Amino acid sequence: MIDLIEKLSKNIDGADNSKNLTGALRDFFIKNFKVSRFDIYIIDSKNNTIKELSKDWENPIESKELSLVLAQYAKQLSRTKYRIDSGNLLYYALYKDRNLIGFIKIDGGNSDKLVEFLHTASFFISLKIQNILLAESMQKNIDFYELMRNIAKIIETQYELNYVIPLIGEMIDKFMPDYLIYIFIKNNSKMELLWPANCKDKTILSEVKKLPEKYDYSIIQDKKTGIFPLVNENRLLGCIAAKSMGKELDDTDVNYLEQLAKQSSSTINRAIVYAEILKHATLDALTGFYNRHQLDERIKQETSKAKRQKTPLCVIMTDIDFFKRVNDTYGHAAGDLVLKIVSKTIRAQLREYDIAGRYGGEEFALLLPNTRTEEAVMVAERLRKAIENKKIDFSKLNIEKSDKSINVTISSGIYEFKNADSPDDLLKKADKALYQAKESGRNKIVVNKDE
Ligand code: GH3
Ligand code: MG
Ligand code: MG
Repeated sequence: MIDLIEKLSKNIDGADNSKNLTGALRDFFIKNFKVSRFDIYIIDSKNNTIKELSKDWENPIESKELSLVLAQYAKQLSRTKYRIDSGNLLYYALYKDRNLIGFIKIDGGNSDKLVEFLHTASFFISLKIQNILLAESMQKNIDFYELMRNIAKIIETQYELNYVIPLIGEMIDKFMPDYLIYIFIKNNSKMELLWPANCKDKTILSEVKKLPEKYDYSIIQDKKTGIFPLVNENRLLGCIAAKSMGKELDDTDVNYLEQLAKQSSSTINRAIVYAEILKHATLDALTGFYNRHQLDERIKQETSKAKRQKTPLCVIMTDIDFFKRVNDTYGHAAGDLVLKIVSKTIRAQLREYDIAGRYGGEEFALLLPNTRTEEAVMVAERLRKAIENKKIDFSKLNIEKSDKSINVTISSGIYEFKNADSPDDLLKKADKALYQAKESGRNKIVVNKDE
């Protein structure tokens, strides 16, 4: 018996999460007691639900049988009455001090030896479960503060809402895997969904529409949906909607979401303010290229000059291939570094009077005055090769990945200005060629002849 207890504690010592622990215990009981099934159920005292330890810890289990067992335990006044048999099943209670915290369900091993063993072993098992649950809840809190910090940090490099919001959405999504997260931003007094791409939840859509200016969070629809307004200095910026796919929202999750909404509001507000200020700046902070606004100005100037002086003008639209993958694999800091290095490499290949603008996220517009299509193709080809051969070194970035450097490729679309084109046409037509370059395999150049 002592031997077995020692063996048990050795088996579960290394387990560091609920899954590992359940696995280790299951293996142990199958091997030593020939049981055919072994599960651990934990009682959530906050809402009196039962959860399976190994699996959906967040998802309550709705089973008549288990509720019955729970009711049986509740009736037991004496701590020594541990077992309840129903057929071949054995339920064995787990206590912390005098409180029931859960139970073990065992199938097929209903022997006296097993029960006797559990009289002692349940103490160790219960203790280990408590430790792991405590560690897991502490980890959740650490993750939460990390997330709060990261939401605040976004603003160091980004200010475009179209980029900031998905970033926040992805991060909250990851932190709360049992929820569907939606972020709406107010635009011209209308609520616009910015994360994810669509929302089919009619309740959320209609609730969001009626959000008043002054507003606290609200819990709706079977207590499974929460709407958390994004407010800054009494101004409603938008809201975060969270829909639980499992249990009802409890105080802990509401508290998390409330604080996340607050942190997001302040980041979003600063992004809006920055964007406004940066409209008046000329250069994009990350790449040093002209920003979108300035790019539009330069296009107007260059197209009218080309018309006036009857000189050729080409535009190359360039977009990094599979850039999302870089962000997803190495993180956004790595993505930013790629943008920096790619833009620097591009700049080094251009003539001084060529104009480089950041059109959007990882898409650049390059204006080449006094340039015909043939030359533009050569430039684009030079760029393509230069980027393809450029090793991008992540070693300074603190990334937990074995490969510390990568190569990326770009695709380009080229268009030569014609007198009938509006400034807008120019980019659109180059973009069309870029799209074809993407479609036909990437790391490529396509010319739009527009004939
Ligand atoms: P494709 O080859 O078709 O171009 O695929 P892609 O993954 O490059 O294209 P997609 O447009 O799907 O993804 C672009 C990504 O660029 C999405 C966005 O998160 C990211 N992004 C946009 N701006 C920035 C930025 O300033 N920094 C970082 N790190 N990522 C950015
Ligand atoms: Mg891309
Ligand atoms: Mg793109």
